[in-house]
Amino acid sequence: MHVDVKELKGHPGAQQTLSTTVEAPAGLGTVLVGIAEGSELHLDLRAESVHEGVLLTGTASAEVTGQCGRCLDPISYPLTVDVMQLYSWEPQEASSPEEDDEETRHVTEGLHIDVEPALRDLMVSALPFQPVCRADCPGLCSQCGFRMEEDPGHAHEQLDPRWAALAGLADQLNESDEDGAAASS
Ligand SMILES: [Zn+2]
Ligand SMILES: [Zn+2]
Repeated sequence: MHVDVKELKGHPGAQQTLSTTVEAPAGLGTVLVGIAEGSELHLDLRAESVHEGVLLTGTASAEVTGQCGRCLDPISYPLTVDVMQLYSWEPQEASSPEEDDEETRHVTEGLHIDVEPALRDLMVSALPFQPVCRADCPGLCSQCGFRMEEDPGHAHEQLDPRWAALAGLADQLNESDEDGAAASS
């Protein structure tokens, strides 16, 4: 995803639009959700020549697919991110990798801008950390994996987890009591 910006160099105010659909590159995702490699990625971008470089604005949209983090059902929904990225005319200084953060991208020597890294950052950071099929997805029973949706009343005999450790201790004490009783009889 390289955009030729030769026409923009030295012409502040000049613009170039980029409206296209490309195949999504690999790696646009997290563990549970992402934009499938090869799926449609719609770009509606405008590259504008400004004093410092090329300002890329617009939107990128794609279909996010993956799994609900609670019930593991497949999910999919459209995602659109706003793009606002400056590509500096200044050549990239190879010496200081720590300065090469997301804010500072550069026009390549061949007067292209590589849109992909910026899109990758934008889209991946727009993905939910814990994707759910719906906000109130009840998920699966943590004990047996039962789909809670099918019976919201599903439950196991269970102590409050805060007391579970104490209960375990009490069981141990009871067992040792029984051991003691068995030994003495
Ligand atoms: Zn779910
Ligand atoms: Zn259960």
